[in-house]
Amino acid sequence: MSTTTGKIGVTTENIFPVIKKFLYSDHEIFLRELVSNAIDATNKLKTMASFGEYKGNTDGLKVRVTVNKEAGTLTVSDNGIGMTADDIDKYINQIAFSGAEEFLSKYKDKAENIIGHFGLGFYSAFMVADKVEIRTLSYKDGSQAVCWTCDGSPEYTIKPIDKAERGTDIVLHIAEENKEFLEQARVDSLLKKYCRFLPVPVVSGWEQEWKDGKYVDTDRERVINNTEPAWTKKPSDLTDDDYINFYRELYPGQDDPLFWIHLNVDYPFTLTGILYFPKIKNNIDVQKNRIQLYSNQVFVTDSVEGVVPEFMMLMQGVIDSPDIPLNVSRSYLQSDSAVKKISTYITRKVADRLEDIFKQSRQEFEKKWDDIKLFIEYGMLTDEKFCERAMKFVLLKDNDSKYYTLDEYKQLIEPAQTNKDGNIVYLYSTDVVAQYNYINEATQRGYSVLMMDGQLDSHFIGLMEQKLQKSSFVRVDSDIIDNLIRKDDRKSADLTPLQINILTTLFKSQIPHVDKTEFLIQFETLSPQAMPMVITQNEYMRRMKDMAAMQ
Ligand code: ADP
Ligand code: MG
Repeated sequence: MSTTTGKIGVTTENIFPVIKKFLYSDHEIFLRELVSNAIDATNKLKTMASFGEYKGNTDGLKVRVTVNKEAGTLTVSDNGIGMTADDIDKYINQIAFSGAEEFLSKYKDKAENIIGHFGLGFYSAFMVADKVEIRTLSYKDGSQAVCWTCDGSPEYTIKPIDKAERGTDIVLHIAEENKEFLEQARVDSLLKKYCRFLPVPVVSGWEQEWKDGKYVDTDRERVINNTEPAWTKKPSDLTDDDYINFYRELYPGQDDPLFWIHLNVDYPFTLTGILYFPKIKNNIDVQKNRIQLYSNQVFVTDSVEGVVPEFMMLMQGVIDSPDIPLNVSRSYLQSDSAVKKISTYITRKVADRLEDIFKQSRQEFEKKWDDIKLFIEYGMLTDEKFCERAMKFVLLKDNDSKYYTLDEYKQLIEPAQTNKDGNIVYLYSTDVVAQYNYINEATQRGYSVLMMDGQLDSHFIGLMEQKLQKSSFVRVDSDIIDNLIRKDDRKSADLTPLQINILTTLFKSQIPHVDKTEFLIQFETLSPQAMPMVITQNEYMRRMKDMAAMQ
């Protein structure tokens, strides 16, 4: 075979400036693309072998990423199927650019959507390289190794070379402005990000050892990935420790998770993954360690806003689906119908799992309630479907630290806490210490008081007032309990209007509060142990203030 030259199958003048311009912000993905192709090549060889198409040996399949600073090259090598000159013509020269013209005229102005609609794959190499070589030897018997070279113009050359080992080296001559990709540390961090869980060993650099007071390279290649992450295994093959260890691998240094869900579906889409409920107390903003999206074990993104329901931003773990497009911008992901279906499915799975734990082990559920309460309330507040499901297992905690479902609690308080209008009155406290006397007062009369001191509780109460019919929530120090609940008339204290006036003025002067008009002072004749005088804050006024304070 002699050297040939040709023109890449594209009628547009030169696509490379376009690739560089539109993809620039995301140019690091070239490495993900090339390593993915290398992994594909090794997987294809395995498939060929399983059909008997390939009779050679498939041991030691791996991908190697080599940085050569002197030569200015970064090379991605594999020992997969390789390509013949014909293959290159078919897969590199033609396929990648078929439809390129249409693509260009269609998406010229919509940079964001380009990646999603047009997997540039191999050609993303030109985002960082001004010359790319493909040196490859096909697995087919008697193949001639070839080298394809292209400097970023539509012209390429292809010529025979000597190459003894089966497989492909993609050699990138890194452009001046992208020299960062010749730094081993930079390459390592990209490999860690995109290739951490790829199914074939990916090696780069060397294992180091401590010698004569410093770290030196050994001759052992350094493997950067875990080829069998937990989510790819069968749930029945995994112990609780396996799940917890995988969590630690994903999020080192965090408290162990509370629960997890192993996702595994084949229809109507394919999806695997493990989602964890982390321990979140009162910090709803902890979102930096989020769910990671993968496609066939290749990292896609951890910017999952709008991709998974909002409340799941509080969950952690991995979702892997080949239906998640690899080359994506987030706005593209959000509008993708497969992604929407996945999101609905996950919501259902999360609700299923929580309901399961609730039903099968109420005790365990209650024990962890304080830690997952925020998550569940957030879910109920932001996701209608999840809310419907969670109405069955959301728990209320009373001043005795007992837990009730909504139904149980309603039955408990209905007899004693129904007011004149037939509304059930839910008394709650937002601060056990400050409202201690009021709680006491209420319980002495046989009322139950709910603990609502969580970060989202005031919103949650609002939601419950909408969802639960004929019910009202009243803070235990708001208004006079008996005004709200007791059907019979209370007796006023035996005081003259003048005495009441003087006492009211006196007590009001003692209230350390700017706006004293919102307080109500009443004098009553009650049981001997009860307070003869009650100062309360008007519920309505109080809520208005709370709302104003939150804005
Ligand atoms: P895709 O991977 O989506 O098919 P790419 O542009 O990434 O698109 O690659 C185009 C084609 O080039 C691949 O489908 C494959 O046939 C071939 N190819 C790329 N890299 C390799 C490789 N390392 N070994 C064998 N074939 C490869
Ligand atoms: Mg590819």
